[in-house]
Amino acid sequence: MLSVRNLRKTFPTPQGPLIVLDGVNLDLQRGDSMALMGESGSGKSTLLHLIAGLDSADSGTILIDDQDISRFNDGERSRLRKKKLGLVFQQFNLIPSMTVADNLAFQARLSNRHDPDWSAFLAESLGLSGLLDRYPEQLSGGQQQRVAIGRTLGARPDLVLADEPTGNLDETTAHEVLELTLHLIAKTGCGLLMVTHSSNLARNLNHQVTLHRGRVT
Ligand code: ADP
Ligand code: MG
Repeated sequence: MLSVRNLRKTFPTPQGPLIVLDGVNLDLQRGDSMALMGESGSGKSTLLHLIAGLDSADSGTILIDDQDISRFNDGERSRLRKKKLGLVFQQFNLIPSMTVADNLAFQARLSNRHDPDWSAFLAESLGLSGLLDRYPEQLSGGQQQRVAIGRTLGARPDLVLADEPTGNLDETTAHEVLELTLHLIAKTGCGLLMVTHSSNLARNLNHQVTLHRGRVT
């Protein structure tokens, strides 16, 4: 599903180029889950951005279902992202003026994949059925992140890229949200690459890798 080879990324700084990724290799099979760990500033978000096609690498390849997205132009990347990828961030990024129901359906509608049965199933599984008429500000952090996850899965992605999705939640809530997410991901058969600081949470995923000095170990 995902194969990253020899990925290099530097950022220009006044002191010269900052080497963030220095030959990263990573493989994820369809339906597999992987935790990406590493110190703050080790390049986890940068790697996720590159895989999501939100930024380009200096060199190396990123294959998603055997398509080399490092050769794609912006339009091709954005189409692939819409078709295959789901992104979840630490900030829930819900739309404040929309109800829970509309937030949940948002991504699926954008991708022309809105399916009321699937939406209802997600809302039910995520414990959101009773909250559909509420607005994001009327929800707890854990509820908001469950909406964000439902919104992502609503579009039936093949691979979910999550950047510290539970980083704003207390430990108990973080475990609850992760468990629900893993359960749903297993049901949909999609893959998950999740950045987390918590080795406790990372243990629940099939694989754990760490970014250190620009490489995956
Ligand atoms: P992590 O997510 O592991 O905390 P990041 O990928 O956000 O780390 O950042 C890795 C390094 O790259 C950091 O030193 C950060 O300051 C630097 N960096 C990230 N984005 C940029 C950018 N757009 N311009 C310059 N430096 C950046
Ligand atoms: Mg980060």
